[in-house]
Amino acid sequence: MATIIDGKALAKKIRLELKEKVKDLNNKNIYPKLAVIMVGDDKASQVYVKNKSKACNEIGIDFEEFLLPSNTNMETLLNLIEVLNNREDISGILLQSPIPEPLNIREAFNKISYKKDVDGFHPINVGKLAIGEECFVSCTPLGVIKILDEYNIPIDGKNAVIIGRSNIVGKPLSQCLLNRNATITVCHSKTKNLEMICKNADILIAAVGRQKFVTENMVKDGAVVIDVGINRNEQGKLVGDVDFENVEKKASYITPVPGGVGPMTVAMLMNNVIEAATRQKN
Ligand code: NAD
Repeated sequence: MATIIDGKALAKKIRLELKEKVKDLNNKNIYPKLAVIMVGDDKASQVYVKNKSKACNEIGIDFEEFLLPSNTNMETLLNLIEVLNNREDISGILLQSPIPEPLNIREAFNKISYKKDVDGFHPINVGKLAIGEECFVSCTPLGVIKILDEYNIPIDGKNAVIIGRSNIVGKPLSQCLLNRNATITVCHSKTKNLEMICKNADILIAAVGRQKFVTENMVKDGAVVIDVGINRNEQGKLVGDVDFENVEKKASYITPVPGGVGPMTVAMLMNNVIEAATRQKN
């Protein structure tokens, strides 16, 4: 039976550490502040933004929300980003996705100063991650690495297989693991022999968005299984991509959904905002 990774407890511990960090910064007259832009009234986004605001509140990070109507044009959005880029009191800027069509989210992400890009989506941060320079790393991959480190799970020399190649999870996670000397395979919807590849993984990470996608026959005995997926099952319950009940019997470590990677993502966002404030003052 696998050790079930308690992402909720770990995230709580990290938030407490971050709270202390903020106090230290405040003593040096540094006040980290996150600006969140939301366009339109997407219900899921409203929940995510509320969670981020709650986390900021708990840690002592200032928070300012910018709500734009769904008929906002690109020029207005870019102008707002420009204003926030230039505001000295704002350490980090987050544009909540999705934004309504026909707005171009890539253009908006690119407009955010890479020094305030706490989501790690700006091409400069993506490039710096690829060459192993100091940068902002997107929060979910950072959370996965933190989980592995906190549970003393070795990465160096291990075979890591990631299912999913998105710009926010799969690709940056592959860079993070490569920078830590793992041997990486990134799988996607066109991958052949997925089962065989996954069976070779010491660390198997699922970021697909389909419930019960990873079944026990895809998992090597003793593998570490990290489930990034967030799905709703037929009963409306939150589930991941992994067939948890069966895979748990084979894995050495496994993250549950909910309570695994999810809480770590928000904690890493807080970490990045504090980091941004610190770097801007240095
Ligand atoms: P995405 O839709 O952008 O990417 C999904 C990936 O899965 C694609 O690269 C695709 O090629 C791959 N895929 C689809 N079908 C496949 C198949 N049959 N075989 C192999 N690969 C296949 O999704 P995303 O934004 O990377 O998110 C993935 C999941 O992670 C979603 O459920 C999302 O909700 C969740 N997520 C969770 C967090 C968190 O904090 N826990 C953060 C971001 C995303």
